[in-house]
Amino acid sequence: MSLHELTLTQAAEKLGTKELSSVELTKAALARIEAAEPKVHAFVTVDAEGALKAAAEADARRAKGETGPLLGMPLALKDNLSTRGLRTTCSSKMLEPYVPPFDATVVAKLRAAGAVFLGKTNLDEFAMGSSTENSAFGVTHNPWDLDRVPGGSSGGSAAAAAAGFGFGALGSDTGGSIRQPASLCGIVGLKPTYGRVSRYGLVAFASSLDQIGPMARTVADAAVLSQAIDGHDAMDSTSVERAVPDYTAALSKGVKGLRIGLPKEYFVEGMDPEVAAAVKAAVKSLESQGAVVKEVSLPHTEHCLSVYYLLATAEASSNLARFDGVRYGFRAQAESLVPQYMKTRAQGFGPEVKRRIMLGTYALSSGYYDAYYKRAQQVRTLIAQDFAGAFAQVDVIATPTAPTPAFKIGEKADDPLTMYLSDIFTISINLAGVPAMSLPCGFSKNGLPIGLQLIGKAFDESTLFAAAAAYEGAHDWKDKRPSL
Ligand code: GLN
Repeated sequence: MSLHELTLTQAAEKLGTKELSSVELTKAALARIEAAEPKVHAFVTVDAEGALKAAAEADARRAKGETGPLLGMPLALKDNLSTRGLRTTCSSKMLEPYVPPFDATVVAKLRAAGAVFLGKTNLDEFAMGSSTENSAFGVTHNPWDLDRVPGGSSGGSAAAAAAGFGFGALGSDTGGSIRQPASLCGIVGLKPTYGRVSRYGLVAFASSLDQIGPMARTVADAAVLSQAIDGHDAMDSTSVERAVPDYTAALSKGVKGLRIGLPKEYFVEGMDPEVAAAVKAAVKSLESQGAVVKEVSLPHTEHCLSVYYLLATAEASSNLARFDGVRYGFRAQAESLVPQYMKTRAQGFGPEVKRRIMLGTYALSSGYYDAYYKRAQQVRTLIAQDFAGAFAQVDVIATPTAPTPAFKIGEKADDPLTMYLSDIFTISINLAGVPAMSLPCGFSKNGLPIGLQLIGKAFDESTLFAAAAAYEGAHDWKDKRPSL
Protein backbone atom coordinates (compact mmCIF):
# COMPACT_ATOMS: atom_id res chain seq x y z
CA MET A 1 0.00 0.00 0.00
CA SER A 2 1.33 3.45 -0.88
CA LEU A 3 1.68 5.90 1.97
CA HIS A 4 -1.06 8.17 0.64
CA GLU A 5 -3.56 5.32 0.95
CA LEU A 6 -3.16 5.06 4.73
CA THR A 7 -5.98 6.31 6.91
CA LEU A 8 -5.24 9.16 9.30
CA THR A 9 -5.33 6.69 12.19
CA GLN A 10 -2.80 4.39 10.50
CA ALA A 11 -0.55 7.31 9.58
CA ALA A 12 -0.72 8.61 13.17
CA GLU A 13 0.39 5.21 14.42
CA LYS A 14 3.43 5.24 12.14
CA LEU A 15 4.32 8.76 13.26
CA GLY A 16 3.89 7.68 16.88
CA THR A 17 6.25 4.72 16.58
CA LYS A 18 8.65 6.91 14.53
CA GLU A 19 8.44 4.38 11.71
CA LEU A 20 7.72 7.47 9.60
CA SER A 21 8.63 11.11 10.00
CA SER A 22 6.23 13.91 9.23
CA VAL A 23 8.58 15.11 6.50
CA GLU A 24 8.35 11.67 4.82
CA LEU A 25 4.59 11.58 5.16
CA THR A 26 4.22 15.14 3.88
CA LYS A 27 6.49 14.43 0.91
CA ALA A 28 4.34 11.39 0.07
CA ALA A 29 1.17 13.51 0.22
CA LEU A 30 2.75 16.23 -1.94
CA ALA A 31 3.93 13.63 -4.47
CA ARG A 32 0.41 12.25 -4.67
CA ILE A 33 -0.91 15.77 -5.22
CA GLU A 34 1.64 16.40 -7.93
CA ALA A 35 0.65 13.19 -9.70
CA ALA A 36 -3.15 13.34 -9.49
CA GLU A 37 -4.14 16.94 -8.77
CA PRO A 38 -4.04 17.94 -12.46
CA LYS A 39 -6.93 15.49 -13.00
CA VAL A 40 -8.90 16.35 -9.86
CA HIS A 41 -8.25 20.05 -9.19
CA ALA A 42 -9.12 19.79 -5.50
CA PHE A 43 -6.99 22.79 -4.49
CA VAL A 44 -7.07 26.52 -5.04
CA THR A 45 -3.64 26.81 -3.40
CA VAL A 46 -1.05 24.13 -2.63
CA ASP A 47 1.52 25.29 -0.07
CA ALA A 48 4.33 22.75 -0.47
CA GLU A 49 6.94 25.00 1.10
CA GLY A 50 4.81 25.85 4.15
CA ALA A 51 3.83 22.20 4.56
CA LEU A 52 7.42 20.95 4.53
CA LYS A 53 8.43 23.60 7.03
CA ALA A 54 5.58 22.66 9.37
CA ALA A 55 6.46 18.98 8.96
CA ALA A 56 10.06 19.61 10.01
CA GLU A 57 8.80 21.56 13.02
CA ALA A 58 6.46 18.71 13.96
CA ASP A 59 9.31 16.22 13.72
CA ALA A 60 11.38 18.45 16.01
CA ARG A 61 8.52 18.63 18.52
CA ARG A 62 8.17 14.84 18.47
CA ALA A 63 11.91 14.41 18.94
CA LYS A 64 11.54 16.47 22.13
CA GLY A 65 8.97 14.00 23.44
CA GLU A 66 5.69 15.61 22.35
CA THR A 67 2.97 13.21 21.14
CA GLY A 68 -0.49 13.39 19.62
CA PRO A 69 -2.38 11.97 16.64
CA LEU A 70 -2.15 15.21 14.61
CA LEU A 71 1.47 16.05 15.35
CA GLY A 72 2.95 16.08 11.84
CA MET A 73 -0.30 15.06 10.07
CA PRO A 74 -0.81 16.44 6.53
CA LEU A 75 -4.34 17.86 6.13
CA ALA A 76 -6.26 20.09 3.73
CA LEU A 77 -8.42 23.11 4.58
CA LYS A 78 -11.43 24.47 2.75
CA ASP A 79 -10.54 27.85 1.31
CA ASN A 80 -13.10 29.74 3.39
CA LEU A 81 -11.14 29.10 6.60
CA SER A 82 -8.81 31.97 7.42
CA THR A 83 -5.15 31.00 7.43
CA ARG A 84 -2.57 33.48 8.67
CA GLY A 85 -0.19 34.35 5.86
CA LEU A 86 -1.87 32.01 3.36
CA ARG A 87 -4.31 33.29 0.75
CA THR A 88 -7.98 32.62 1.56
CA THR A 89 -10.13 33.15 -1.52
CA CYS A 90 -13.54 31.53 -0.88
CA SER A 91 -13.10 30.59 -4.57
CA SER A 92 -14.16 34.13 -5.42
CA LYS A 93 -12.52 36.76 -7.56
CA MET A 94 -13.54 39.11 -4.73
CA LEU A 95 -10.98 37.57 -2.37
CA GLU A 96 -8.44 36.34 -4.91
CA PRO A 97 -5.57 38.43 -3.46
CA TYR A 98 -6.70 38.30 0.19
CA VAL A 99 -4.19 37.04 2.77
CA PRO A 100 -5.68 36.93 6.28
CA PRO A 101 -3.62 38.38 9.13
CA PHE A 102 -5.03 35.75 11.53
CA ASP A 103 -5.99 32.07 11.83
CA ALA A 104 -9.54 30.78 12.23
CA THR A 105 -9.87 29.19 15.67
CA VAL A 106 -10.08 25.69 14.16
CA VAL A 107 -6.92 26.37 12.16
CA ALA A 108 -5.12 27.67 15.25
CA LYS A 109 -6.19 24.57 17.18
CA LEU A 110 -4.94 22.22 14.46
CA ARG A 111 -1.70 24.19 14.16
CA ALA A 112 -1.16 23.92 17.92
CA ALA A 113 -1.75 20.16 17.66
CA GLY A 114 1.03 20.04 15.05
CA ALA A 115 -1.03 19.54 11.88
CA VAL A 116 0.62 20.22 8.52
CA PHE A 117 -1.48 22.19 6.02
CA LEU A 118 -1.00 21.05 2.44
CA GLY A 119 -3.14 23.81 1.02
CA LYS A 120 -6.57 25.33 0.59
CA THR A 121 -9.31 23.42 -1.18
CA ASN A 122 -11.75 24.51 -3.85
CA LEU A 123 -15.39 25.30 -3.08
CA ASP A 124 -18.47 26.83 -4.61
CA GLU A 125 -17.94 30.59 -4.37
CA PHE A 126 -18.58 31.64 -0.74
CA ALA A 127 -19.85 28.07 -0.12
CA MET A 128 -22.95 28.63 -2.24
CA GLY A 129 -23.66 25.52 -4.23
CA SER A 130 -23.76 21.74 -4.32
CA SER A 131 -21.23 20.84 -7.01
CA THR A 132 -18.11 23.04 -6.70
CA GLU A 133 -18.92 24.28 -10.21
CA ASN A 134 -19.56 27.80 -8.87
CA SER A 135 -15.86 28.39 -8.22
CA ALA A 136 -14.05 31.31 -9.87
CA PHE A 137 -11.03 29.00 -10.20
CA GLY A 138 -12.47 26.06 -12.14
CA VAL A 139 -14.41 22.93 -11.25
CA THR A 140 -13.22 20.06 -9.08
CA HIS A 141 -13.60 16.54 -10.50
CA ASN A 142 -14.91 13.57 -8.55
CA PRO A 143 -11.99 11.13 -8.02
CA TRP A 144 -14.36 8.17 -8.64
CA ASP A 145 -15.39 9.48 -12.07
CA LEU A 146 -13.63 12.53 -13.41
CA ASP A 147 -16.62 13.52 -15.57
CA ARG A 148 -18.73 13.99 -12.46
CA VAL A 149 -18.95 16.62 -9.74
CA PRO A 150 -17.55 15.96 -6.25
CA GLY A 151 -20.61 17.62 -4.69
CA GLY A 152 -20.36 20.89 -2.85
CA SER A 153 -19.72 23.27 -1.56
CA SER A 154 -16.79 21.50 0.20
CA GLY A 155 -16.08 19.54 -3.00
CA GLY A 156 -12.35 20.24 -2.93
CA SER A 157 -11.98 18.93 0.63
CA ALA A 158 -14.06 15.83 -0.19
CA ALA A 159 -12.11 15.11 -3.37
CA ALA A 160 -8.81 15.66 -1.52
CA ALA A 161 -9.74 13.20 1.22
CA ALA A 162 -10.97 10.63 -1.31
CA ALA A 163 -7.94 11.01 -3.60
CA GLY A 164 -5.35 10.73 -0.83
CA PHE A 165 -4.25 14.35 -0.93
CA GLY A 166 -3.47 14.28 2.77
CA PHE A 167 -5.21 12.29 5.49
CA GLY A 168 -8.30 14.37 6.12
CA ALA A 169 -9.70 17.84 5.64
CA LEU A 170 -11.98 20.43 7.14
CA GLY A 171 -15.11 21.64 5.40
CA SER A 172 -18.01 23.89 6.30
CA ASP A 173 -21.69 23.02 6.16
CA THR A 174 -24.52 25.53 5.92
CA GLY A 175 -27.10 23.29 4.29
CA GLY A 176 -25.21 20.11 3.50
CA SER A 177 -21.84 21.24 2.22
CA ILE A 178 -19.84 18.73 4.26
CA ARG A 179 -22.23 15.79 4.08
CA GLN A 180 -23.35 15.91 0.43
CA PRO A 181 -19.80 16.03 -1.02
CA ALA A 182 -18.72 13.38 1.51
CA SER A 183 -21.52 11.20 0.18
CA LEU A 184 -20.64 11.82 -3.47
CA CYS A 185 -16.93 11.15 -2.87
CA GLY A 186 -17.29 8.08 -0.64
CA ILE A 187 -15.86 9.54 2.56
CA VAL A 188 -17.06 10.40 6.08
CA GLY A 189 -18.22 13.94 6.86
CA LEU A 190 -19.72 15.39 10.02
CA LYS A 191 -21.72 18.56 10.51
CA PRO A 192 -21.50 19.16 14.26
CA THR A 193 -24.23 20.59 16.47
CA TYR A 194 -24.60 24.34 15.98
CA GLY A 195 -22.33 25.90 18.60
CA ARG A 196 -20.08 22.87 19.03
CA VAL A 197 -17.28 24.30 16.88
CA SER A 198 -16.09 27.90 16.78
CA ARG A 199 -16.94 29.77 13.58
CA TYR A 200 -14.35 32.47 14.29
CA GLY A 201 -12.35 32.94 11.11
CA LEU A 202 -14.76 31.02 8.89
CA VAL A 203 -15.82 33.49 6.19
CA ALA A 204 -19.51 33.77 7.00
CA PHE A 205 -22.20 32.66 4.56
CA ALA A 206 -25.28 32.23 6.77
CA SER A 207 -24.19 32.66 10.37
CA SER A 208 -27.12 30.90 12.03
CA LEU A 209 -26.52 27.76 9.92
CA ASP A 210 -22.75 27.56 9.28
CA GLN A 211 -20.63 24.96 11.09
CA ILE A 212 -17.12 23.66 10.44
CA GLY A 213 -16.54 19.91 10.52
CA PRO A 214 -14.23 17.03 9.62
CA MET A 215 -14.03 15.16 6.30
CA ALA A 216 -11.99 11.97 6.34
CA ARG A 217 -11.72 8.45 5.01
CA THR A 218 -12.93 6.68 8.16
CA VAL A 219 -15.16 7.33 11.15
CA ALA A 220 -12.18 7.01 13.51
CA ASP A 221 -10.26 9.60 11.48
CA ALA A 222 -13.20 12.02 11.69
CA ALA A 223 -13.31 11.45 15.46
CA VAL A 224 -9.68 12.53 15.79
CA LEU A 225 -10.35 15.72 13.84
CA SER A 226 -13.52 16.54 15.79
CA GLN A 227 -11.68 16.01 19.05
CA ALA A 228 -9.15 18.61 17.97
CA ILE A 229 -11.52 21.33 16.74
CA ASP A 230 -14.57 21.07 19.02
CA GLY A 231 -15.18 23.19 22.08
CA HIS A 232 -16.07 26.65 23.33
CA ASP A 233 -14.29 29.72 21.99
CA ALA A 234 -14.56 33.17 23.53
CA MET A 235 -14.13 34.63 20.03
CA ASP A 236 -17.45 33.13 18.84
CA SER A 237 -20.41 34.14 20.98
CA THR A 238 -22.53 31.35 19.45
CA SER A 239 -20.10 28.64 20.49
CA VAL A 240 -21.35 26.73 23.50
CA GLU A 241 -19.62 26.12 26.80
CA ARG A 242 -19.94 22.40 27.10
CA ALA A 243 -17.45 19.61 27.73
CA VAL A 244 -16.28 17.73 24.63
CA PRO A 245 -16.63 13.99 25.16
CA ASP A 246 -13.99 11.43 24.19
CA TYR A 247 -15.08 10.55 20.65
CA THR A 248 -12.50 7.83 20.12
CA ALA A 249 -13.81 6.06 23.21
CA ALA A 250 -17.33 6.24 21.73
CA LEU A 251 -16.25 4.32 18.61
CA SER A 252 -16.44 0.94 20.33
CA LYS A 253 -19.78 1.46 22.07
CA GLY A 254 -21.82 -0.48 19.51
CA VAL A 255 -25.52 -0.11 18.73
CA LYS A 256 -27.21 -2.64 20.98
CA GLY A 257 -30.58 -1.17 21.93
CA LEU A 258 -29.95 2.01 19.93
CA ARG A 259 -33.28 3.34 18.64
CA ILE A 260 -33.06 4.37 14.99
CA GLY A 261 -35.86 6.39 13.41
CA LEU A 262 -36.71 6.35 9.72
CA PRO A 263 -38.60 9.54 8.83
CA LYS A 264 -41.44 8.58 6.53
CA GLU A 265 -41.21 11.91 4.68
CA TYR A 266 -37.67 11.03 3.53
CA PHE A 267 -38.42 7.66 2.00
CA VAL A 268 -40.75 8.61 -0.77
CA GLU A 269 -41.78 7.29 -4.13
CA GLY A 270 -39.51 8.39 -6.96
CA MET A 271 -36.32 8.16 -4.95
CA ASP A 272 -33.26 6.87 -6.79
CA PRO A 273 -33.68 3.07 -6.40
CA GLU A 274 -29.99 2.37 -5.86
CA VAL A 275 -29.75 5.01 -3.12
CA ALA A 276 -32.93 3.73 -1.46
CA ALA A 277 -31.70 0.13 -1.56
CA ALA A 278 -28.25 0.94 -0.15
CA VAL A 279 -29.67 3.00 2.71
CA LYS A 280 -32.29 0.39 3.58
CA ALA A 281 -29.60 -2.31 3.59
CA ALA A 282 -27.45 -0.14 5.88
CA VAL A 283 -30.30 0.24 8.35
CA LYS A 284 -30.86 -3.55 8.25
CA SER A 285 -27.18 -4.04 8.98
CA LEU A 286 -27.44 -1.83 12.09
CA GLU A 287 -30.58 -3.74 13.09
CA SER A 288 -28.70 -7.03 12.85
CA GLN A 289 -26.20 -5.60 15.37
CA GLY A 290 -28.95 -4.92 17.88
CA ALA A 291 -30.40 -1.54 16.91
CA VAL A 292 -34.17 -1.11 17.06
CA VAL A 293 -35.74 0.53 14.02
CA LYS A 294 -39.01 2.42 13.94
CA GLU A 295 -40.77 4.92 11.72
CA VAL A 296 -40.87 8.56 12.82
CA SER A 297 -42.39 11.65 11.26
CA LEU A 298 -40.90 15.08 10.51
CA PRO A 299 -44.11 16.71 9.28
CA HIS A 300 -42.70 20.06 8.14
CA THR A 301 -40.09 18.52 5.83
CA GLU A 302 -41.74 19.88 2.68
CA HIS A 303 -41.07 23.46 3.84
CA CYS A 304 -37.36 23.04 4.56
CA LEU A 305 -36.08 24.05 1.14
CA SER A 306 -38.10 27.28 1.00
CA VAL A 307 -37.24 28.23 4.57
CA TYR A 308 -33.55 27.57 3.97
CA TYR A 309 -33.36 29.58 0.76
CA LEU A 310 -35.05 32.53 2.46
CA LEU A 311 -32.96 32.54 5.62
CA ALA A 312 -29.63 31.58 4.07
CA THR A 313 -29.91 34.22 1.35
CA ALA A 314 -31.08 36.87 3.84
CA GLU A 315 -28.08 36.23 6.08
CA ALA A 316 -25.74 36.02 3.10
CA SER A 317 -26.90 39.39 1.75
CA SER A 318 -25.99 40.95 5.06
CA ASN A 319 -22.70 39.04 5.57
CA LEU A 320 -21.46 39.76 2.06
CA ALA A 321 -22.14 43.50 2.33
CA ARG A 322 -18.63 43.86 3.77
CA PHE A 323 -17.03 43.06 0.41
CA ASP A 324 -17.02 46.55 -1.00
CA GLY A 325 -13.55 46.89 -2.48
CA VAL A 326 -12.34 48.98 0.44
CA ARG A 327 -11.60 46.53 3.19
CA TYR A 328 -10.78 43.21 1.54
CA GLY A 329 -9.34 41.77 -1.62
CA PHE A 330 -10.41 42.84 -5.08
CA ARG A 331 -11.02 46.51 -6.00
CA ALA A 332 -12.33 47.73 -9.35
CA GLN A 333 -11.03 51.05 -10.64
CA ALA A 334 -13.57 53.88 -10.63
CA GLU A 335 -13.63 57.67 -10.51
CA SER A 336 -15.37 57.92 -7.12
CA LEU A 337 -16.55 55.85 -4.17
CA VAL A 338 -20.08 54.78 -5.09
CA PRO A 339 -19.16 53.63 -8.60
CA GLN A 340 -16.19 51.85 -7.02
CA TYR A 341 -18.51 49.88 -4.72
CA MET A 342 -20.78 49.04 -7.61
CA LYS A 343 -18.08 47.99 -10.05
CA THR A 344 -16.22 46.00 -7.40
CA ARG A 345 -19.32 44.00 -6.51
CA ALA A 346 -20.41 43.61 -10.13
CA GLN A 347 -17.01 42.29 -11.21
CA GLY A 348 -15.95 40.52 -8.01
CA PHE A 349 -18.94 38.25 -7.37
CA GLY A 350 -20.03 35.37 -9.60
CA PRO A 351 -23.62 34.79 -10.78
CA GLU A 352 -24.80 32.48 -7.96
CA VAL A 353 -23.54 34.83 -5.26
CA LYS A 354 -25.28 37.77 -6.95
CA ARG A 355 -28.50 35.77 -7.26
CA ARG A 356 -28.44 35.08 -3.53
CA ILE A 357 -27.59 38.63 -2.50
CA MET A 358 -30.55 39.86 -4.56
CA LEU A 359 -32.93 37.23 -3.16
CA GLY A 360 -31.80 37.94 0.39
CA THR A 361 -31.98 41.71 0.04
CA TYR A 362 -35.49 41.38 -1.34
CA ALA A 363 -36.63 39.10 1.49
CA LEU A 364 -35.27 41.53 4.08
CA SER A 365 -36.66 44.72 2.53
CA SER A 366 -39.07 46.50 4.84
CA GLY A 367 -42.30 45.79 2.96
CA TYR A 368 -41.61 42.08 2.71
CA TYR A 369 -39.85 41.35 5.99
CA ASP A 370 -42.94 39.99 7.77
CA ALA A 371 -44.15 38.00 4.79
CA TYR A 372 -40.84 36.27 4.11
CA TYR A 373 -38.05 36.51 6.68
CA LYS A 374 -40.22 36.50 9.81
CA ARG A 375 -42.49 33.78 8.44
CA ALA A 376 -39.47 31.64 7.54
CA GLN A 377 -38.11 32.05 11.08
CA GLN A 378 -41.45 30.87 12.46
CA VAL A 379 -41.46 27.78 10.25
CA ARG A 380 -37.83 27.15 11.22
CA THR A 381 -39.05 26.79 14.81
CA LEU A 382 -41.61 24.21 13.70
CA ILE A 383 -38.89 22.28 11.88
CA ALA A 384 -36.72 22.27 15.01
CA GLN A 385 -39.74 21.06 16.99
CA ASP A 386 -40.22 18.19 14.51
CA PHE A 387 -36.74 16.96 15.37
CA ALA A 388 -37.31 17.42 19.11
CA GLY A 389 -40.47 15.33 18.79
CA ALA A 390 -38.74 12.57 16.87
CA PHE A 391 -35.81 12.52 19.29
CA ALA A 392 -38.24 11.91 22.15
CA GLN A 393 -38.76 8.50 20.55
CA VAL A 394 -35.42 7.59 18.98
CA ASP A 395 -31.68 8.19 19.51
CA VAL A 396 -30.63 8.55 15.88
CA ILE A 397 -32.44 9.25 12.61
CA ALA A 398 -31.27 7.58 9.40
CA THR A 399 -31.82 8.93 5.88
CA PRO A 400 -29.97 9.04 2.58
CA THR A 401 -27.47 11.92 2.46
CA ALA A 402 -28.12 12.89 -1.16
CA PRO A 403 -30.96 11.95 -3.50
CA THR A 404 -28.61 10.57 -6.18
CA PRO A 405 -24.96 9.57 -6.57
CA ALA A 406 -22.59 12.10 -8.20
CA PHE A 407 -24.07 13.78 -11.27
CA LYS A 408 -22.25 14.84 -14.42
CA ILE A 409 -20.33 18.12 -14.54
CA GLY A 410 -22.60 20.62 -16.28
CA GLU A 411 -25.75 18.54 -15.81
CA LYS A 412 -27.42 20.95 -13.37
CA ALA A 413 -25.24 24.02 -13.76
CA ASP A 414 -27.83 26.08 -15.66
CA ASP A 415 -30.75 25.17 -13.43
CA PRO A 416 -30.38 26.57 -9.89
CA LEU A 417 -33.65 25.04 -8.66
CA THR A 418 -32.64 21.49 -9.63
CA MET A 419 -29.27 22.13 -8.02
CA TYR A 420 -30.99 23.28 -4.79
CA LEU A 421 -32.74 19.88 -4.61
CA SER A 422 -29.35 18.20 -4.04
CA ASP A 423 -29.68 19.31 -0.41
CA ILE A 424 -33.20 18.11 0.16
CA PHE A 425 -32.06 15.61 2.84
CA THR A 426 -29.43 17.75 4.52
CA ILE A 427 -30.72 21.31 4.99
CA SER A 428 -33.36 20.54 7.61
CA ILE A 429 -30.55 19.50 9.95
CA ASN A 430 -28.89 22.93 9.77
CA LEU A 431 -32.25 24.60 10.35
CA ALA A 432 -32.74 22.47 13.47
CA GLY A 433 -29.12 22.92 14.59
CA VAL A 434 -28.56 19.22 15.32
CA PRO A 435 -25.51 17.15 14.26
CA ALA A 436 -25.44 14.76 11.29
CA MET A 437 -22.85 12.55 9.66
CA SER A 438 -22.59 11.08 6.19
CA LEU A 439 -20.73 7.81 5.74
CA PRO A 440 -20.27 5.46 2.79
CA CYS A 441 -22.92 2.71 2.54
CA GLY A 442 -22.29 1.24 -0.89
CA PHE A 443 -21.78 1.92 -4.57
CA SER A 444 -24.08 2.30 -7.54
CA LYS A 445 -23.88 -0.09 -10.49
CA ASN A 446 -21.48 2.28 -12.24
CA GLY A 447 -19.14 2.48 -9.29
CA LEU A 448 -20.27 5.72 -7.65
CA PRO A 449 -20.34 6.04 -3.84
CA ILE A 450 -23.63 6.29 -1.93
CA GLY A 451 -23.90 7.92 1.52
CA LEU A 452 -25.94 7.14 4.61
CA GLN A 453 -26.87 10.11 6.80
CA LEU A 454 -27.17 9.61 10.56
CA ILE A 455 -28.72 12.52 12.46
CA GLY A 456 -28.29 12.91 16.22
CA LYS A 457 -29.64 14.85 19.17
CA ALA A 458 -28.03 18.21 19.86
CA PHE A 459 -24.52 17.72 21.33
CA ASP A 460 -24.77 13.95 20.96
CA GLU A 461 -22.05 13.53 18.32
CA SER A 462 -20.77 10.59 20.41
CA THR A 463 -23.77 8.47 19.49
CA LEU A 464 -23.23 9.27 15.81
CA PHE A 465 -19.61 8.17 16.09
CA ALA A 466 -20.69 4.96 17.86
CA ALA A 467 -23.37 4.05 15.32
CA ALA A 468 -21.22 5.01 12.33
CA ALA A 469 -18.25 3.01 13.60
CA ALA A 470 -20.47 -0.03 14.21
CA TYR A 471 -21.80 0.15 10.67
CA GLU A 472 -18.41 0.85 9.10
CA GLY A 473 -16.79 -2.06 10.94
CA ALA A 474 -19.26 -4.54 9.43
CA HIS A 475 -18.49 -3.56 5.82
CA ASP A 476 -15.45 -2.94 3.67
CA TRP A 477 -16.49 0.30 1.94
CA LYS A 478 -13.76 2.22 3.75
CA ASP A 479 -11.06 0.08 2.13
CA LYS A 480 -12.10 1.02 -1.40
CA ARG A 481 -10.07 3.74 -3.12
CA PRO A 482 -10.75 5.43 -6.44
CA SER A 483 -8.43 4.23 -9.22
CA LEU A 484 -7.08 7.59 -10.27
N1 GLN B 1 -25.84 23.63 -1.29
C1 GLN B 1 -26.40 24.49 -0.28
C2 GLN B 1 -26.40 25.90 -0.78
O1 GLN B 1 -26.11 26.07 -1.91
C3 GLN B 1 -25.63 24.35 0.99
C4 GLN B 1 -24.33 25.04 0.92
C5 GLN B 1 -23.55 24.88 2.18
O2 GLN B 1 -23.85 24.04 3.02
N2 GLN B 1 -22.57 25.75 2.33
O3 GLN B 1 -26.67 26.82 -0.10
